[in-house]
Order: sequence, then structure tokens, then C-alpha cells
Amino acid sequence: MTTPVTPMVEAVEVHKSFGRVEVLMGITLKVLPGEVMCLIGPSGSGKSTFLRCINHLEKINAGQLSVDGELVGYRRRGDRLHELPEREVAQQRTEIGMVFQRFNLFPHMTALENIVEAPIRVKGESKEAARTHARELLQKVGLADRSGAYPNQLSGGQQQRVAIARALAMRPKLMLFDEPTSALDPELVGDVLAVMRRLADDGMTMIVVTHEMGFAREVGDSLVFMDGGVVVESGNPREVIGNPQHERTRAFLSKVL
Ligand code: ADP
Ligand code: MG
Repeated sequence: MTTPVTPMVEAVEVHKSFGRVEVLMGITLKVLPGEVMCLIGPSGSGKSTFLRCINHLEKINAGQLSVDGELVGYRRRGDRLHELPEREVAQQRTEIGMVFQRFNLFPHMTALENIVEAPIRVKGESKEAARTHARELLQKVGLADRSGAYPNQLSGGQQQRVAIARALAMRPKLMLFDEPTSALDPELVGDVLAVMRRLADDGMTMIVVTHEMGFAREVGDSLVFMDGGVVVESGNPREVIGNPQHERTRAFLSKVL
């Protein structure tokens, strides 16, 4: 007998509105532990909003969203849902790493200081343990020799790799990437994608909003195409890319491929 696997992320009919504008109109999807889901879709389709809902930065209006079997922001008692206090929401959030298009490193801190900041402040790790871990992470992202550099002494691609190391320093069980390479000069994109690919090979569960279709095809276990707040099409990346079933998917792919 096999035990059922708890999905790392499960969304069921997730709705999100800003005022009267409904941005997510019933998103249903599942990401299993160790899987990489790539999320594509035109600007304004709700990709960032969906990631922000997973990371408790936005509250959903209807539906259910859970991470590793726990409802995001709520606790179920009997058949009623109770909102979690902010302290517990913050705790849930520490288990999810997020990397944005803009790296948002602290400019007055070195690469190493940026990485150890949250583990020390939020998790109460000792300085020594946090520094040791940070050095391992800098090694992992190919920046072992730049630990003392300030963000303005690093290229955009290097800053983004520090941002990835900073997210990993919290030992997240899930990593969310929101167009991590779209602000980078083209020649810097490859190094960042290589770091993400290694992370996937190490078994990290990831949701990646990206228009790097090569990455989606080679690293993604699934590909989701969103448009207008709904999932239009999803499946094996090679199949979705090679044989899209919907006109909207075809039209979008013809622009990014
Ligand atoms: P994507 O990441 O796919 O480009 P977004 O999730 O950023 O799309 O945005 C989806 C829609 O939601 C857009 O129309 C955007 O203007 C709107 N939106 C996003 N955040 C807010 C907000 N905080 N308040 C009002 N509207 C928002
Ligand atoms: Mg976005």
C-alpha cells in the first residue's frame, strides 16, 4: 500500500479580487514535493498575485490554498475556518522562499550580511552557524569569493544569485520565483538559470514564473499557462509547448518562443 503524498502546494478554486476587479477567477492546481512548476502567461494575467497568495502576502477571497497540507493563513476547526494570528502567518511565511524580478538586497550590507540577516533576526540562529551556512550557500550559487562585496559591486546576475542564497538561508521547503531573470542583461541570465536548475536537481520544490521557455522545457515537471485569471492549459512542458490545445496558448507561445 502506498501512502498518499501531501502536495507541497494545492490550490482549489482560488479567487482573488482587488476591489471589484477579480484577478484570479478560480485557480486549481497542485505541485508535489520535489516538483518544478513553471507558470507563464501575458502581463496582467495574475501570475504574481497567485504567488503572493501562496506566500500570504495577499488574502484570497474564496477557494482553498494549502502549503504542505496546511491552509495558508487559516486553521480548520470542525467545518469552520479561523484566521491565523499574524505571528503564525509570519511563521508559515518563513518556510517559503521568494525571489523577485528586482533583487531587493540591502545596499549597506555585504553579500554575506544580507544572507545571515533573517536567519539571525527571525530564526534566532547563532551568528557563527548563520555565517557557516551562508558561506555554503554562496559556494552553491557560485559566489564563494564575493562574500564581502556590496550589492553595488556585483552585477545584476550576481545580485540575483545572492538573493537566491538569501532565500535559501531560511531553509524553505518551497521556493517561489517571480520572473527572476527578466530584469537581467541577456548574458547574465544563464548563470542564474544554472543555479535554479541545480536547486531543482537537489530536489527543491519550486514554482517559477518565467518566459525562459528552454528552462521550462528542460527543468519543469509541469507548465501552466494562465490568461485573464484562469488556468487555460497545463501539463507536461514539452507537450504544452509542442502541441498547445488552445488558441490563446498558441498565440502566447508564438510570442515568447
Ligand atoms: P502578472 O504577474 O501576470 O503580470 P499581476 O498578478 O501582477 O499579473 O496582476 C494581475 C492584475 O491584478 C493586473 O490587472 C493588476 O493591475 C492587478 N493588481 C495586482 N496587484 C494589485 C493591487 N495591489 N491592487 C489592485 N490591482 C492589482
Ligand atoms: Mg508579474
